[in-house]
Formats: sequence, structure tokens, C-alpha cells
Amino acid sequence: MRENSSEGRGVRKRFWVGAACVELLGQGTRISWPDGTAVVGQPHETESYKETARKHGYGDDVSLLCIEHEVMHVALAHWLGFPSQVMDMQRGQQSSIHLQELEENAVLAIQAYMRAIGVDPVRLFSE
Ligand SMILES: [Zn+2]
Repeated sequence: MRENSSEGRGVRKRFWVGAACVELLGQGTRISWPDGTAVVGQPHETESYKETARKHGYGDDVSLLCIEHEVMHVALAHWLGFPSQVMDMQRGQQSSIHLQELEENAVLAIQAYMRAIGVDPVRLFSE
């Protein structure tokens, strides 16, 4: 894409969800915030990750599972007006383990629903 050609090696697409800047990389994502913190998300080649992909409508596409998962963490936080506890933990900030677990389940549930109804979260937030 033209707007990404001048910077960011390997950045395929860049868009904002609230204050979070989401970059789609060759594999996975990099999400950054105005305070300079960033979280890189990459698919895992583990059996449990593949099982998560199959269970939530991604078939064998662990790469797409990863991308949409990271996007939905920040999208849910933006929608609810409450910081992503999972992202905050990864950014070295205070967060609740109990809320992290609830957030993981919520994000995966939304992903399964989006897959079932054919909504592409990247398209939803980047266009
Ligand atoms: Zn997660």
C-alpha cells in the first residue's frame, strides 16, 4: 500500500483503533501506543494454537487467527472504553489476571462470531 511504502519494513497495513496504532506485518502484528510502548503478536506453531484456530472458525489459518485476535483486543478495549488488560500486562503495566482471562474469552468469542457472520475486523477498522 502506498501510504506504507516510505517507512516500516515489512508493514503491510497500518490503521488506528482508538489510540492504538495497529501494523500488520509479514507475520502477525505490532500494536503501539502514544506512550511509546508496543506489543508484537505472532502466531504460534503449537497444536493448541492450531486447535484454537479450528475451534473459532479459522481452519488451519493460524496467521489470520493471530492478526484478528490482536486487533480485537484493542477493538474491544476501545469499544468498552476500558484498557485492554492483556495488552497492559504485555506493556508492563498493572492489570488484573482475572480480567485478562475474561478478556481472552470475550475476544475469542467475538472472533468466532465474526467468522461465522463473515465480518473482517481488519477491514472494519481500516477502511
Ligand atoms: Zn489474547
